[in-house]
Amino acid sequence: MKTVMQSYPVNQVYIGGNFVTPHGSELFDLFNPVNGKLIGQVQLADEVDAEMAIAAAKSALPRWSATSKEVRIEALRRLQVSVAASKVDLLEAVTTEYGAPQRNSYMVDSTVTAFSNMIKTLEEFDFTRKIGRARVELAPVGVAGLITPWNSDAFFIADKLATALAAGCTVVIKPSEMSAMQTHVITKALHEAGLPKGVLNIVTGRGDVVGSAITRHPDVSKISFTGSTETGKIILSQAVETMKRVTLELGGKSPSIILDDADLEEAASGALMAGFANSGQACVAGTRILVPEKRLAEFLAIATEKMADFPVGDPRDPATAIGPMVSERQWNRVQRYIHRGVADGARIVVGGPGRPTEFPEGYFVRPTLFADVTNDMLIAREEIFGPVLSVITYRDENHAVEIANDSTYGLHAYVFSSDSERAGRIASRLEVGRVSINGAYEPLSPFGGFKQSGIGREYGAFGLEGFLEPRSIMA
Ligand code: NDP
Repeated sequence: MKTVMQSYPVNQVYIGGNFVTPHGSELFDLFNPVNGKLIGQVQLADEVDAEMAIAAAKSALPRWSATSKEVRIEALRRLQVSVAASKVDLLEAVTTEYGAPQRNSYMVDSTVTAFSNMIKTLEEFDFTRKIGRARVELAPVGVAGLITPWNSDAFFIADKLATALAAGCTVVIKPSEMSAMQTHVITKALHEAGLPKGVLNIVTGRGDVVGSAITRHPDVSKISFTGSTETGKIILSQAVETMKRVTLELGGKSPSIILDDADLEEAASGALMAGFANSGQACVAGTRILVPEKRLAEFLAIATEKMADFPVGDPRDPATAIGPMVSERQWNRVQRYIHRGVADGARIVVGGPGRPTEFPEGYFVRPTLFADVTNDMLIAREEIFGPVLSVITYRDENHAVEIANDSTYGLHAYVFSSDSERAGRIASRLEVGRVSINGAYEPLSPFGGFKQSGIGREYGAFGLEGFLEPRSIMA
């Protein structure tokens, strides 16, 4: 089998514009989620590597922060071209490493468009504003630490990097060690774009070692983190000592509200698609499907049929919509929640515990649809991070909004209706950072969460402002 591992051994980190062997010597095993077999090892960076990467970013900061908008746009263009040229390798890496279905090539496409989206933003962005007698300059915040999770690691690297560079920041990136392959592919592509040395540094290592060193370091001014709410809280507390600016993109338990006037065929397809995104391993997954009481039977019949449009299988099979879970740990976590749902009185409509019969090994789970779920059950409250969806009924619009907002999370919501004005009124009552009506999407609109889904926003101008400090000059 030709793997990305064979092409690029994962025993290097990227510091000061060079690929170097890390000072850290710990080896981390990588497993193929399709069969659970060992496919390689990553040599992890340690605190010494983190220190060196931060020093490189610090020394590159004065020059990069003084660059013009045109220079930054030109750099982003080169990065985009270079990453676009590595799309095939990137898709291979995400499939090998965490079982992302190749049918979902948007994972890779969005890694490329992260750069074009930021170019568009930068072209229209004004770094100086006038307020009364003051001229307000938006200055780069400084060295930024970017910490990314394994699910779509390359996209998060691209998006956070593009935004930080656009602002004039230099960066140290700490990707998940479970994403070593995609990290290596994208690092190679980013290197080929020829940024000034030290502007970009990438150190793959453990969160509690390298991540922690970055979040505590006095020379790092900003942390942009995507990952679990649990880790987000640790990072926030670590960053407070040096008063870092912090953007946290955390977990979710997003509602898909199906209004009583919705076309149920379309709404069921849309809700399943929102729930099964990235094999259910997506922070924005619509995992609570809110259905009007009086249309429940009709919805379940349609949704059961449409589950066949989301087959589980080998991620390399173009028909596959849902691949295996990333790890054995994640597989066990999903199983625990399915058992807990049954124990709490939810009814399995499709799926259930265990592996699909055709896939007796690896980390495959059975895509599961629960009915008779109440919003106080654990499966409706906690992020499962797998293809397990809960159908919850509501009496009327107010009840639907009440259930949707009754969550510690507030990342995303989906509304399905044949009346877009009515859907818009509901959307305005939801305590979430983003609402998609009938599947609509706008990549430049701010992304981030209310409540425990995070702090701050990414993407577009809002994302860019997260890497800037206003300086008022009054004369
Ligand atoms: P984690 O929170 O476990 O890890 C995310 C990153 O943080 C990893 O690189 C991890 O390193 C690092 N990390 C762990 N501990 C620390 C620490 N003490 N200091 C600094 N960094 C640390 O999340 P997962 O990787 O398991 O990703 C899944 C989670 O991410 C889900 O809960 C999901 O909801 C969330 N997510 C949120 C998104 C959003 O935009 N809101 C998008 C995608 C995912 P290591 O790998 O070594 O632990």
